[in-house]
Amino acid sequence: MQDDTRQDTFADVVAGMDDQIPCASFYVCDNEAVWWGDVHGCEQASICTTHVMKWLEDSTRRIATHGYVRCWRCGCSFSTVEKLGTFRPL
Ligand SMILES: [Zn+2]
Ligand SMILES: [Zn+2]
Repeated sequence: MQDDTRQDTFADVVAGMDDQIPCASFYVCDNEAVWWGDVHGCEQASICTTHVMKWLEDSTRRIATHGYVRCWRCGCSFSTVEKLGTFRPL
């Protein structure tokens, strides 16, 4: 019912600042999004604090284990979390 146009959804998110913005992370989640995440241009989404923390934790652990994280979208490898993605408050 909701997914007829993604443009409308995005415009609603940008315009409806007085509404609660749902977390749009890769994880399914009903939390309020308070961060704008930018994964080196490959992926951009509004994300809740819980999932920013989880993303940072996962990425940090993968870098610690393998020395890098490979982006599933563009195939590039990143050796630091800062290069992989950035987050700023909405
Ligand atoms: Zn979330
Ligand atoms: Zn990428």
